[in-house]
Amino acid sequence: MASTACAAEFGGRWRPVGGDGAWTRFDPESGARLPRSATGIAIVLEPPRTGWPPGHVLEVRGLGFGTLALHRPDGSDLRLHPLDVDARAWRGHGRLGLPLERVDAHAPLELTLAPLRSLPPAPAFALVAADAFAARDAAWLAWASACFGVMLAMLVMALVFAVLLRDATFLWYALYLGGYLVIQLLETGYAAHPLHWRLLAEAPFAWGRPATLLSLVAATAFLIRFADLRERAPGMRRALQAYMLAVAAFGAAALLPFETVVRQLGLVVNLLLVAGGPLLLAAAVRAWRRGAATGAIFALGWTPLLVATALDSAQAFAGGAAQARLGDAVLGLAAFEALVFSAGLAVHAGAMRRQRDLARRLADTDGLTGLLSRRALLERLEALLAAAPAPGVAVLFVDLDDFKRINDRFGHAAGDLALRRVADVLRASLRAADLAGRYGGEELVACIAATDAPGAEAVAERIRARVEALVLPAPNAAMHLTVSIGVGLAAPGEGAEALLARADSAMYAAKAGGRNRVQPMRTAGVSGPGLDTGRAASG
Ligand code: GH3
Ligand code: MG
Ligand code: MG
Repeated sequence: MASTACAAEFGGRWRPVGGDGAWTRFDPESGARLPRSATGIAIVLEPPRTGWPPGHVLEVRGLGFGTLALHRPDGSDLRLHPLDVDARAWRGHGRLGLPLERVDAHAPLELTLAPLRSLPPAPAFALVAADAFAARDAAWLAWASACFGVMLAMLVMALVFAVLLRDATFLWYALYLGGYLVIQLLETGYAAHPLHWRLLAEAPFAWGRPATLLSLVAATAFLIRFADLRERAPGMRRALQAYMLAVAAFGAAALLPFETVVRQLGLVVNLLLVAGGPLLLAAAVRAWRRGAATGAIFALGWTPLLVATALDSAQAFAGGAAQARLGDAVLGLAAFEALVFSAGLAVHAGAMRRQRDLARRLADTDGLTGLLSRRALLERLEALLAAAPAPGVAVLFVDLDDFKRINDRFGHAAGDLALRRVADVLRASLRAADLAGRYGGEELVACIAATDAPGAEAVAERIRARVEALVLPAPNAAMHLTVSIGVGLAAPGEGAEALLARADSAMYAAKAGGRNRVQPMRTAGVSGPGLDTGRAASG
């Protein structure tokens, strides 16, 4: 910065407008810390001994959203405001350039700083060669456009994902980014130049305050979902929810058009805003330490921007306008954060998908036997029937014989073991394309693809024989089991429910025939003779 500034030294003094008190001298290059003043501040800059240098602009930094007017010898005023869309001053973004071509080279510059509601500004001044000023502004515009472009692209992607994945996490992120974009468009002056967005630029507070509230509330809601605080850190989640509520309530109240209320609440809101960054970081770190990778990702994106913003604010507050401002770094770190969070959202989407797959697997699986649940079995049998070529699909309805007695004699734990072992027999007796499910309490169903009646009956007989051969440990004695199996071969166009009902009634026929047997039922409605392949299980 010193390289572009003119070496010529000039002096400055200021005093509140209207007051005829003494002037306070200050060094324009390092800036003046000015008090709040209801009338504004008059500033006088004395020219260097050699006069205001030709081909230079007076660079003004640290103006915030303040308005500075240059009173020219011809009585006209040149008004300077960072968000003035029509301004005749030179753009500098974070700096403004005051052309010195219509001023008397040896006369002092008379300026007035209009009264300001927000932070007292700490303007600093430098004489900069016009071409150097323009070159630096061009570089700034390229940098800022790249940063804004990244943020905008990530915002659009987040919105697309919010809609496609129906996940509010992405929507909160997009809202946070949108609010933050508005803030940065205003703070950097980009809204006025090069965008010329009059609507935004001409009401910086009307847009900036709601945007700040929105971005903070949305960032909090985003973090709660993103880092899975409900599971990982429920205490932190409650704290963040309370915080969010406080920001929304106090923030909305401070937007009301009552001057005194606003001033009181403004302080509370400002405190809440300052507390927000560290609070969110703490929550993210807590979630991270409890195993949420997204907590670490949030911390990675959030921390650099938080630190830079804090330093930038501290610098502005301390009147450090003369030093290199961190504004440009803040913009770059905001783009970096957008990239990191977007990568994090991909991680989040992956976790969502794994969770959904797990839920689906759990819903599809019977907890005791590990076979398909009834719903999943029906669903897949329907699909099997729809795709069935000839030879067709057979259903084996397997019911444990006298299972109530097994439970009564050996206890429910032994009964559960028996169910699991019979399920094992089913699994071992089927091929990969076949299905096995638990239809009800002690009723298991096997669906055999690409088979005919003799094939299905052979499988059923194998299952029956293997169950009969089982000897299971039980508290008092060895436990023996038998099953009755009804076999149904799908008729053309037959649905799962109808096929199962037929196999079920075949199974009842097997029970009536003395249990521990396989009962085929070849065609719809016609029951074949029982295959008395085993010995009766019960007297
Ligand atoms: P049948 O030979 O006529 O089928 O007689 P059964 O006693 O097996 O028939 P019933 O349907 O009357 O009884 C089934 C029993 O299965 C009743 C129930 O206590 C038991 N049962 C159902 N689900 C489970 C389970 O998950 N674990 C255990 N241990 N028992 C179960
Ligand atoms: Mg039974
Ligand atoms: Mg039963």
